[in-house]
Amino acid sequence: MARPESIEGGCLCGAIRFKVTFPQEEDWPPQGNGVCQCTMCRKHGGSVLPQNVAFPRSNVSPPLEANATYKKYQSSTHCSRGFCSTCGSALTFDEHGSNTIEINIGAFDEEVLCGRRDEANAWEDGYGRHVPRVGGVGKELCYPKYHIYVENAIPGVTDDFPGPKYLLGREGGKAFTEKPPERK
Ligand SMILES: [Zn+2]
Ligand SMILES: [Zn+2]
Repeated sequence: MARPESIEGGCLCGAIRFKVTFPQEEDWPPQGNGVCQCTMCRKHGGSVLPQNVAFPRSNVSPPLEANATYKKYQSSTHCSRGFCSTCGSALTFDEHGSNTIEINIGAFDEEVLCGRRDEANAWEDGYGRHVPRVGGVGKELCYPKYHIYVENAIPGVTDDFPGPKYLLGREGGKAFTEKPPERK
């Protein structure tokens, strides 16, 4: 998949809109893309499988802070969680002093994740109406490069995805694949 010029996203009510560009070859597909099962990410996003993607701050425009309804909750000493104060959409994981900002992947637009709806070529069968999609970069954007805080995995539900996994964060942790190693 060719590197897109830009992708767009925003909050549920539309008060917050942003665009991410990919000026450098190495910007695409984003490598800082992980599923985090830590309790803070779960509480903030309301999902058992929260997924964030890191982008250089300079590639995000306008800066999220420029949106009037963008608020931050300081969730720990070094990190804040960004959200829309009108609709409550959980949007970012923001590590203070980092040159990247992590955006919650579900905040990107449907056209980005799934492609544009091709209504002209829709068909119906016993399962309902099928609308083909055109374009979209969901696979490249969303495929997780790692899973962290797998110590919180729900057995049989969130403990067995492809790719490297870490019990806690990636720093100092040793990656495993498949399910968490069992006690010998
Ligand atoms: Zn909003
Ligand atoms: Zn987390």
